Amino acid sequence: MTPHQVLRKYFGYDRFRVHQEEIVNHLIGGGDAFVLMPTGSGKSLCYQVPAVILPGVCVVVSPLIALMQDQVDAVRELGIRAGFLNSTLDVDEAYGVEAQVAGGELDLLYVAPERLVTDGFMRLLTKSKISLFAIDEAHCVSQWGHDFRPEYLELTVLADRFPRVPRVALTATADEITRREIIDKLRLEKARHFLSSFDRPNIQYKVELKTHEKTQLLDFIEDNHPNESGIVYCMTRKKVDEIACFLTEKGVPALPYHAGLDRSVRLANQRKFLRDDGLVMVATIAFGMGIDKPDIRFVAHLNIPKTLEGYYQETGRAGRDGERADAWMLYSLSDVVLLSRMIEGSQGDEQFKTIQHRKMEAMLGYCETTRCRRQVLLGYFGEEHSGQCANCDTCHGKVETWDGTHVARQALSCVYRTGQRFGASYLIDVLTGKETERIRGFGHDRVSTFGIGRELTEIQWKSVFRQLAASGMVTSNLESKGGLSLTARSRPVLRGEESFQLRKDAAPAVKSRGKKSAKAQRGQRMGAISWDTEDIRVDLWEELRSLRAQIARQNSLPAYVVFHDNTLKEIARRLPDSLEEMGNISGIGQKKLYMYGEMFLEMIAQYKKKNRLH
Ligand code: ADP
Ligand code: ZN
Repeated sequence: MTPHQVLRKYFGYDRFRVHQEEIVNHLIGGGDAFVLMPTGSGKSLCYQVPAVILPGVCVVVSPLIALMQDQVDAVRELGIRAGFLNSTLDVDEAYGVEAQVAGGELDLLYVAPERLVTDGFMRLLTKSKISLFAIDEAHCVSQWGHDFRPEYLELTVLADRFPRVPRVALTATADEITRREIIDKLRLEKARHFLSSFDRPNIQYKVELKTHEKTQLLDFIEDNHPNESGIVYCMTRKKVDEIACFLTEKGVPALPYHAGLDRSVRLANQRKFLRDDGLVMVATIAFGMGIDKPDIRFVAHLNIPKTLEGYYQETGRAGRDGERADAWMLYSLSDVVLLSRMIEGSQGDEQFKTIQHRKMEAMLGYCETTRCRRQVLLGYFGEEHSGQCANCDTCHGKVETWDGTHVARQALSCVYRTGQRFGASYLIDVLTGKETERIRGFGHDRVSTFGIGRELTEIQWKSVFRQLAASGMVTSNLESKGGLSLTARSRPVLRGEESFQLRKDAAPAVKSRGKKSAKAQRGQRMGAISWDTEDIRVDLWEELRSLRAQIARQNSLPAYVVFHDNTLKEIARRLPDSLEEMGNISGIGQKKLYMYGEMFLEMIAQYKKKNRLH
């Protein structure tokens, strides 16, 4: 079979996405590959298609033990012969799978890295035919990354023991250092690199100032995502529990997830989130790696993440199916203070702390930007974007700005007059003319900037300083212990040659949210579909969804494994009359057509009859 035939027959798709076909052909031809593509871009298909075509078994190394069963169920649903080996299997089960491998009965075998490098497993591999090694989440090999798994280092053995078997390493997160480490540690010097843009055009980025976080969150969910799946990230376990309770009380089904919960509770919650439609997971960042639920419609952050890398990875979990999704964040100054303290109090040496502070500044810069958020994000990862993405809050013109040239000059000159060694709070005291002992002690009640900034409140001044830092006009250096000093970038503004736009950081007015209106809205949007531009019959959509849920329950599969939302949508739009028409729909391969086709056709026929449609 050709790659295209496999794509149609098993996956039910008509076209490869960017890079997929090249990667598939390269691997089939025996080459090694390093694949760096964002979450949701379709990396798994790159080794699954060769796994079907090439003789022998494709061994997939993955650290995500808790998700292996689901992964295997999902590919089996496509008609691909797959199994897994990890510590959750008992001896008999593992023996059964090993026999299948040795007997050439599997196309795909998922295995945990610690199992892979055991002597027993190596012996099994030596006597079996292996088509390909796929090393998923390859960044786990990096000591610099946050997901480091020591077992990944031992994967070097693959290159030595099986020099003729092609290897592919895949990841969605890799900066330059991590990339080099992956190549080096996995011995992929000769591998061809496939890098694609990190842009996720279907995700809308929004950031709001935190005022009443619970109300803001509830409004956000009720207005934009009723009955839809989403993740809410919180900084602490306590907060996770609190928010999960709050949402549940307000009628939004939600579950908590954090490292303080019993392992069995954690797993059960994760499983429920994956399987059910329209559940909200409230979690610390312990949750999420490897979660490939395609229909997560929003990721909300109630606190600022520590780094943009983390933020991008977390928000990337939304909208894998390519449909509209939201990345929504609340930020506040107290989070910033808390984060700074955490960095200061951490174990790392000075260099480590400096790097963490820089990363935090970049994160803040993102929050406070008056530019297109996508441009700032991609720019951080070294990718250029022209701005005006039309899919972020700044591009939608929701960010109000004002001419801050005058106050910026006041702030900058205050930094200068006080010797470039004080932090923002002190400088604000000087600007607003507070006669504290400290100020008098330094004689700063006599500098020319003392008391010149009384027209702004302390809160407004804080925002000014953050925005100056975010645009690189001031920086905090180590010698001065966080004191601010001027950079070259500040000169044109100080001299009055350049203007400086500031974000109006006025807190958004809290809507007086009558319970009724929220409910009414909810009712209206019952079963509403996020792709709001199309008119799909809502009643039919609901029926299709419930048929899908019923099939999923009977086979104990997640609903999306039966059909993705966009496949269901396509069925609702085209109203197919025959298996043939049904088989042309994207996402319906041969096996699913055979298993579920008739049931859906029958439902459509009844619907047409009832509504006199032809
Ligand atoms: P990644 O591993 O890169 O995060 P996945 O492999 O989970 O992404 O794929 C994301 C989604 O895109 C999956 O639901 C998958 O079925 C779908 N997909 C992958 N390739 C194609 C394609 N060529 N056409 C349509 N959908 C695709
Ligand atoms: Zn934009």
